[in-house]
Amino acid sequence: MSTGSTGLADGGEGAGCAICSTLKDKEYASQKYGWEENDTHLPAAAGQLALVRDFKPHSSRALQLRVCPECQTYYLYESDYEYLANGSEDDQTLTRLTADQAAQYLDPPASP
Ligand SMILES: [Zn+2]
Repeated sequence: MSTGSTGLADGGEGAGCAICSTLKDKEYASQKYGWEENDTHLPAAAGQLALVRDFKPHSSRALQLRVCPECQTYYLYESDYEYLANGSEDDQTLTRLTADQAAQYLDPPASP
């Protein structure tokens, strides 16, 4: 039993983290209507990431900043939705961000 640990990693991105260690730097998944057997899905760990900011709350194409609750590594979650005549196609991308990249999303330069 150890006490007093903050649980923060000492500098590796996702190193030793139960959530991040199962996620690649870039994860991609897609689902196509009528081709369910070929569907792919993001790893379950992706669902454990906490939502930090939703940049397109009213769009079917998501752009979200998410963070790992264990090691505070940031990820960018994007989804796309394509309406096709014979069905639809969804895809999701999850990209691990560096601290610098995440900072740009957290504090974007002021725009007029
Ligand atoms: Zn993590």
